[in-house]
Amino acid sequence: MLVAAICAKDHKSASNQIRKALLYPVDILELRLDFFNNLKITEIKNLNKSFNIPMIFTLRKKSQGGLFRGKEAERLKLIKDLIVLEPEYFDLEYDIANSFVNSIRKEYPQVKLICSYHDFKKTPEDLNQILTSMARNKFSIYKIATFANSTIDSLRMLNFVQEHRGRNNLCGLCMGELGRPTRILSPIVNNALNYVSVGAGQNTAPGQLDLTELFDTYNYAGINKKTSVYALLGDPVLQSVGHIFHNSVFQKLKQNAVYIKLQVKKEELLKFFQEAFKLPFKGFSVTMPLKESVVSFLRLSKDVKIIKAVNTILKTKNKLEGFNTDGIGALNAIEKITHVKNKKIIVLGAGGTAKAIVYEALKRGAEVIILNRTLSRAKEIAQTFNCRACGLNYAKKLVKEGYDILINTTSVGMGKQKNISLFPARAIIAGALVLDMVYKPRVTKLLQNAKAKKCICITGEEVFINQALEQDFLWLCGESLNQI
Ligand code: NAP
Repeated sequence: MLVAAICAKDHKSASNQIRKALLYPVDILELRLDFFNNLKITEIKNLNKSFNIPMIFTLRKKSQGGLFRGKEAERLKLIKDLIVLEPEYFDLEYDIANSFVNSIRKEYPQVKLICSYHDFKKTPEDLNQILTSMARNKFSIYKIATFANSTIDSLRMLNFVQEHRGRNNLCGLCMGELGRPTRILSPIVNNALNYVSVGAGQNTAPGQLDLTELFDTYNYAGINKKTSVYALLGDPVLQSVGHIFHNSVFQKLKQNAVYIKLQVKKEELLKFFQEAFKLPFKGFSVTMPLKESVVSFLRLSKDVKIIKAVNTILKTKNKLEGFNTDGIGALNAIEKITHVKNKKIIVLGAGGTAKAIVYEALKRGAEVIILNRTLSRAKEIAQTFNCRACGLNYAKKLVKEGYDILINTTSVGMGKQKNISLFPARAIIAGALVLDMVYKPRVTKLLQNAKAKKCICITGEEVFINQALEQDFLWLCGESLNQI
């Protein structure tokens, strides 16, 4: 069941939030009564009666993350007064006295009870032990919400709920930014409850998504136990817009698939793949700093055996296969304008992206010169691929020597370096084709300088779209667009 969490200070704003929630296909509302400034039973009665949707009442105490500040005896008395209104469910904390639970159950057997457990610091290793300790009283739903300190915590929680999917009464969610996968993928593991906030800044737990994000970005209404999951792996991943692109492609192609972002560190990769294998992941995009470190976990395509950097993983039954679509994406964007065969290409940088681009450019018959701050790295690639390598100061000599295409594969031009171009403006040859792999900002300082010289410019955004489409094709058809 999808629960819209209503966290209003008074009756009027609660009504407004409920009207907003009802614009989406939510199953039930949670009235967080501990958020009310001046709780009046008659007003809550009115809310419960006015809207044609079942409700969960929650009067959360402070120690379990709530806002109720009074004494425990006052809270229990208020719960008794509120249960008279016969909401569909009442949420009670796992440590509430058995005698209290038994007395309200006896008086109001029609009100279903939720037993909830919160840990705001961590996701304990043994989640089964927590569930066993909660089961002392018979409740309709058992809810465990813990804080995710890593993506692995979230995957552990999803696997825990999945193991118990047959009981249909277990809710397991992770809080915090890294807990978001448990919320997006809830229907896949048969989570009994999933909570969504009505709008940005109106969440009742850290990391809760809002209705627009869940339904419009992740197409939540289409997620079910048959949904295939794809994800971006890297650190950081927050700034990436890949989820917007891939989810809209999946929707347009009517694919039962969802794409999420997972922050994964190098040292977490082994544990990550172990947990991910138990869930319906079908493929991954890989970004910094994992492009080279994932290689040891994968069966490699012919190209990746040479490039030794992966940006795409295809997961079949029991194997992970690594590909690289960065070079193909960049060269396809260039070849929409001009063929590269026999053209001279200058590649700035000697990282993972540079390797993929140099490999693809040489494969298509271009001549390549690599320019890099650390000359030894440039030389290493040049030796592998049989091309030239120079330091950055060679740029000024290039005007005389001449070139057709210039590609920046370094991160200079983004973030704090957004007003910097690694390549001097005076070394840009008028009329050349200039591509910057940096996609934020869209038009980098290098591209501004190139425009001023009347060069043909290609943005990193165009390359991003090309390489992402190539990824979708690999995932959905198991082959490269380029081989068709
Ligand atoms: P990487 O492996 O870390 O390589 C970074 C390269 O940039 C190295 O050659 C490094 O030189 C150079 N560099 C970094 N800071 C520098 C500075 N201050 N001065 C001079 N050189 C500097 O990174 P990557 O994975 O190849 O990614 C590079 C960029 O491409 C990123 O901005 C990424 O977002 C972008 N990218 C875009 C797309 C797309 O679809 N548009 C796809 C993939 C990557 P040293 O060797 O001297 O350290």
